[in-house]
Amino acid sequence: CGIVGITGNKVALPVLMKGLEKLEYRGYDSAGVYVNDNDGHEYLYKEKGRVSMLEAAVENAGIEGTTGIAHTRWATHGVPSAHNSHPHVSASGRFFLVHNGVIENFRELKQEYLADVEFKSETDTEVAVQLLGKIVEEEGLAVVDAFRKVLSLIGEGSYGFVMMDNEEPDTLYVARNKSPLLLGLGDDFNVVTSDATAMLDYTHDFMSLDDGEMAIVKGDSIVIIDANGQIVEHESFHLDIDA
Ligand code: GLU
Repeated sequence: CGIVGITGNKVALPVLMKGLEKLEYRGYDSAGVYVNDNDGHEYLYKEKGRVSMLEAAVENAGIEGTTGIAHTRWATHGVPSAHNSHPHVSASGRFFLVHNGVIENFRELKQEYLADVEFKSETDTEVAVQLLGKIVEEEGLAVVDAFRKVLSLIGEGSYGFVMMDNEEPDTLYVARNKSPLLLGLGDDFNVVTSDATAMLDYTHDFMSLDDGEMAIVKGDSIVIIDANGQIVEHESFHLDIDA
């Protein structure tokens, strides 16, 4: 239902939590956050219920780091619960994924490719992150290529995705299809959000992605790749409104 992500030189947790609060008006049933400190520590918290529940869980957890993703969930597949809330994690514990939308063919993908994987949730979303983990492990593809392969297998489904790889903890992998997702541009940091209002405290400059595009976002760079695998340029735009 709502996504925020950040990478660069800004302490991530307060930005993510404030972003989730701003997204609350959209309605949701659970929330979660993942932060990596780029120094061997990672933090994953998920709570059913309000963002304030998640806030209570993270506030004294000593979460440091400047790269992270967070999500408010509106359940479509699987009951509202902590284990069904996002981020979802691959079996190896390497990839972390938040998702807005619906993966229509998740049952088929699960049957065909993931029969031997033990799932931790009932969501359509977990299929995407497990598939990514499996493709990287078994086909030895680079993460960006494996991610594109997952997108092509998902086909017509709707998604705003932001994915993190704990072997590359300063990078956000972003993709969208028929679900809103914007890149926000900061000084030495960049953000991702499903709704610009969640990030207006940090930037008013945004870039949109077209359906089927993905982006590799770091604190000082953004690379956008279209559905054919070509690097494309997008103009940024300035949003002249207040948070
Ligand atoms: N389909 C996913 C789920 O049920 C994502 C829902 C959402 O957009 O919040 O977990």
